[in-house]
Amino acid sequence: MECIFCRIAEKRSSARIVYEDEHALAFEDINPQAPVHLLIIPRRHISTNLELTEEDNRLVGHLLQVANRVAAEKGIAGRGFRLVINCNPEAGQTVYHLHLHLLGGRTMHWPPG
Ligand code: AMP
Ligand code: ZN
Repeated sequence: MECIFCRIAEKRSSARIVYEDEHALAFEDINPQAPVHLLIIPRRHISTNLELTEEDNRLVGHLLQVANRVAAEKGIAGRGFRLVINCNPEAGQTVYHLHLHLLGGRTMHWPPG
């Protein structure tokens, strides 16, 4: 099975892309869990958070910068937003291409489900 997020990054599957550059993309989650629910991904296929190496530190920092940027563009930076990385089955990871969930536009609860 081909990776759906690689397909989106290569424009072989459609998505509502809100930001893209050489290394990363942000697009709307197809099944939003909040008024703003974006996914931020590296273009390069990385299956899970556990696959990251020291060499990816710069890339990870960049993904966080992209999150800040799209949160500001969506008008939720000051109000607040949540970033989530689900890693492996018990955390609920279903797509095995690293992604940050950016959730906002409503009050978030803690602990998460
Ligand atoms: P996770 O459970 O952390 O692996 O999150 C995967 C997320 O990807 C879920 O929130 C899905 O709704 C979302 N998703 C799956 N396929 C697509 C797609 N083709 N376009 C946008 N979002 C997707
Ligand atoms: Zn992939």
